[in-house]
Amino acid sequence: MSVSEQIQFPLPESAIPTHWVNLLADLPGEPLPPLHPATKEPLGPDDLAPLFPMALIGQEVSAEPEIEIPDEVRDVYRLWRPTPLLRARRLERALDTPAHIYYKYEGVSPAGSHKPNTAVAQAYFNRQEGVRKLATETGAGQWGSALALACQLFGLECEVFMVGVSYDQKPYRRAMIEAWGGTVHRSPSELTEAGRSQGEHDSGSLGIAISEAVEVAAGSEDTNYTLGSVLNHVCLHQTVIGQEAIAQLELAGEYPDVVVGCVGGGSNFAGIAYPFLRANLRDGKSTRFVAAEPSACPTLTRGVYRYDFGDTVGLTPLMPMYTLGHDFVPPPVHAGGLRYHGDAPSLCALVKEGLVEPRAIHQTSAFEAAIRFARTEGIIPGPEPAHALRAAFDEAEAAREADEERVILIGLSGHGHFDMSAYEAFLGGELTDLEFSQAEMDAAIERLPEAPVPG
Ligand SMILES: *Cc1c(COP(=O)(O)O)cnc(C)c1O
Repeated sequence: MSVSEQIQFPLPESAIPTHWVNLLADLPGEPLPPLHPATKEPLGPDDLAPLFPMALIGQEVSAEPEIEIPDEVRDVYRLWRPTPLLRARRLERALDTPAHIYYKYEGVSPAGSHKPNTAVAQAYFNRQEGVRKLATETGAGQWGSALALACQLFGLECEVFMVGVSYDQKPYRRAMIEAWGGTVHRSPSELTEAGRSQGEHDSGSLGIAISEAVEVAAGSEDTNYTLGSVLNHVCLHQTVIGQEAIAQLELAGEYPDVVVGCVGGGSNFAGIAYPFLRANLRDGKSTRFVAAEPSACPTLTRGVYRYDFGDTVGLTPLMPMYTLGHDFVPPPVHAGGLRYHGDAPSLCALVKEGLVEPRAIHQTSAFEAAIRFARTEGIIPGPEPAHALRAAFDEAEAAREADEERVILIGLSGHGHFDMSAYEAFLGGELTDLEFSQAEMDAAIERLPEAPVPG
């Protein structure tokens, strides 16, 4: 086999990054602070202390360009990291493109996605500060299962409030949470004020599940709350992905012209993109960055840039971001992990500055790309990274039209083994594209909280 035919670019365990990349340190200007939901004043560390450990609060606002990864966290990363980087040669041939396509695959983690990268770090820092239990919400169960795994590995209890409709329809992720020793409640539950205020047979929502988890954490000295996306410290922890990818592409003798990822709250995108973005900002590299989101929940492409709540109910701090309105109820796209009304403030700022290009993708075209990928490369991708695949195929097509050997790097955030009902619907011709209505958007903007408009 000649080197030019190489498919995998494996790294040894010793190449697991020793630091996380904090891109905030390299961004021009001061980041806009989150605001207190009641006073609308910038939030201080004390406001967050009932919910998060000081170490994570520090990371949330850190100006340090790099933050050291504790040995105990790296030791757990060893269970699945470094993750594979592959050259998609079969796909390149199928697409008849001169582009060199690489994908970084996070589906090899025990939970099947990138989410354990931050779950493990969050569990570690909480345990260091004497916390006994973590409470969180989960939609389709990806975050809940990742956190249950992490809590088990660090000897913490884990209590998950799972959106009622998913609890009823997705029993397998629920069973994963329990297999890793977590407790999972159907939300709304009888255990909290927030839950009891809802009807007993309510199908639930992420907003109510957040309220329940926050209530449990705020009401107990030794319990903290965790989030699986959006916040700076979550994006930070994911940067192990991009740092490994840089080293692996170096083995391949390449550097990406374009990096493509999917965006739900922004954490896996940040993970693969921010280390390369830092190279743009510092070393004059000129990589392009494409952020793929569902057309049915088009936060970055059609939202407004405002301060808005992080949750549906309006309990969380106000964050500066592109938003569809905190009470926006996205239509039921099958990419459950991409249904969020806002996005990470750091990513929104990068989009606003023109450093990241957002792309809206219809779900049928995402599944079409996913099937093509499965039939050439073998992996059945999650519906979320299927959106990134579609955007990457478009880049490959553009490379063909330009007749250029462009290097495309795709963040493949997880597998789709628990989403086969969505594949079944697609293959059965039952999946349709849901239109996002401007009237709904206009109405949602009317209901945004009163707050300064970020510049
Ligand atoms: C949760 C999830 C996402 C979306 O979340 P981000 O924070 O935007 O990364 C994407 N892909 C997979 C596989 C997920 O589990």
